[in-house]
Amino acid sequence: MTHGVLTVAYIGASILFILSLGGLSHPETARRGNMYGVIGMTIAIIATIIGKVTGSFAVLIGAMGVGGAIGAVLAKKVQMTQMPELVASLHSFVGLAAVLVGFANYFDPNLHFTDGAEKVIHDVETYIGILIGAVTFSGSIIAFGKLSGKIGGKPLLLPGRHYLNLTALIIVCVFGVSFVNADSAAAGMMPLVVMTVISLLFGIHMVMAIGGADMPVVVSMLNSYSGWAAAATGFMLSNDLLIVTGALVGSSGAILSYIMCRAMNRQFLSVIAGGFGSGTTTASTAAAIEGEVVPISAEETAELLKSSHEVVIVPGYGMAVAQAQHSVSEITKLLREKGVKVRFAIHPVAGRMPGHMNVLLAEARVPYDIVLEMEEINEEFPETDVVVVIGANDIVNPAAQEDPGSPIAGMPVLEVWKAKTTIVLKRSMASGYAGVDNPLFFKENNRMLFGDAKASIDAVLKTLKD
Ligand code: NDP
Repeated sequence: MTHGVLTVAYIGASILFILSLGGLSHPETARRGNMYGVIGMTIAIIATIIGKVTGSFAVLIGAMGVGGAIGAVLAKKVQMTQMPELVASLHSFVGLAAVLVGFANYFDPNLHFTDGAEKVIHDVETYIGILIGAVTFSGSIIAFGKLSGKIGGKPLLLPGRHYLNLTALIIVCVFGVSFVNADSAAAGMMPLVVMTVISLLFGIHMVMAIGGADMPVVVSMLNSYSGWAAAATGFMLSNDLLIVTGALVGSSGAILSYIMCRAMNRQFLSVIAGGFGSGTTTASTAAAIEGEVVPISAEETAELLKSSHEVVIVPGYGMAVAQAQHSVSEITKLLREKGVKVRFAIHPVAGRMPGHMNVLLAEARVPYDIVLEMEEINEEFPETDVVVVIGANDIVNPAAQEDPGSPIAGMPVLEVWKAKTTIVLKRSMASGYAGVDNPLFFKENNRMLFGDAKASIDAVLKTLKD
C-alpha cells in the first residue's frame, strides 16, 4: 500500500470516528454511530496491517485471533451490571499497551536518532507516554476492583497524601531530565524504570483515595487518560491515526469528566485530591433521620398507580441488578394505555457508568420522549402524584440538600420527596454506593416496597392486569 493510500484510509477512518462520536450522542442515532465506529476501526486495522507492518503476518494474525476470541467471549458473557468493570479493565489494557510500546520503542535498535533535537522529542514522547500509560493501567485496575466490589468504596486517606503526590511529581520531573540527558539506552533505563514504578503507585494511590460517591468522575477521567495514553503511543509509533483517535477519546473523556463533576457539583481538582463520600455518616445526618418506615404491598402500589394522573419513575443501580427494565417498560405501557402520564427521571450518575439507565431503558424499548434529564424534570415533582424509585438511593437522597454535614452535601439530586407520594423499591434499608443513610425512606409521604425490584414490579404488573 502506498503512503498516499494509507493516508486516505486514515483520514477516512478519522472521519468515521468523528461521525461515530456524533451519532453516539443521542439514543436514536446511537446504533448508526456504533456502525460508523465499527467500519472506521475495520478500515484502520486493515490499512495498518497492509501499510505499516513489516514483521511476521502469521504472528500478527495469530495474536489478533486470540485477542479477538477473548473479546468476543467476554462480550457475550458479560452481564449488563458488569459493564462498568469491563470498561475499567479495557482502559487498563490501553494503559498497559502504552507502557509496553514505550519500553519496546525505547530499546528498538532501529530507532537510532543522530539529530539532538529529534532524540529529545522522541525521549520526551516515550517518557510521557509511559507515565500516562502506567497511571492509567494501575488506576483502572483499582477502579475495576472498586466497581466490582472487590475493593471497598471507602477512600484510603494516607497521612500527608498531598505531600506524597507532590514528592512523586518532583521525583518524576527530576528523573525525566536525567532520562532525556542520558547518553545511552542503558543509562536511560534506571530513570525510566523508577518513573514507571512511581507512576504505577501514583495511579493506585489516586484512585484508592477517591470515595464511592466520586467514582463516576474517576471512570470518565480514566476513559480520558486511556485516550491520551493511546495518543502518546501514536506519537511513539509515528501513527497519525492513533494520535487522532487517542485525542478524540481523550478530549471526549475530559468533557464527560467535566459533565460528571457538574452533575455532582464537584471541582475536578478536589476529586483528584480525594476523600469525598467517605462512607461514614456524620452525627448530624444520623440526628436528622427521624420518622417511621412504612411498607406498602404490590397490590396497594398498583391501586395507587392506577388512580394517579402523573407518575414519574426514577431508575437506579438496583433496576440494573434486578434486570427489571423490561417489566418496567411493560408497566409503563399499561399505565399509559390507562391514561396515566408516565415519565422517567434520569440522574446523570445513576447506576454505575455514564448513560447506564438510558442504555437499559433503550434496550427495553421505552420511548425516548418520556425519558427526561434531571434538570428537565426536577421542577415538576410537586405536581406529581406518585414517584416510583426503582433500586435508586444516592441520587434521591434529600440529605444532599438538607444536611450540610453529609458526605454528599451539595450534590444535585432528584427532589422526589416533593411529590405527593414516593414509593421506593429495594430489598432492605441498606445504603447506596456512597454509603450514606437516606432520610427519604423515613419521610411521611414515602412508602417502601421491599423485595427484588423485578419481583416487585412483576407483582404490581400482575395486579394491574387483573
Ligand atoms: P445506589 O448505589 O445509590 O443504590 C442502589 C440501591 O439499589 C441500593 O440501595 C440497593 O438497596 C438497591 N438494590 C440493589 N439490588 C437490588 C435489587 N435486585 N432489587 C431492588 N433493589 C436493589 O444507586 P443510584 O443509582 O441511586 O446511585 C448511583 C451511585 O453510584 C452514586 O453514588 C454514584 O456516585 C455511584 N457511581 C456512579 C457511576 C456512574 O458513572 N453512573 C460510576 C460509579 C459509581 P438494597 O440493597 O436494600 O436492595
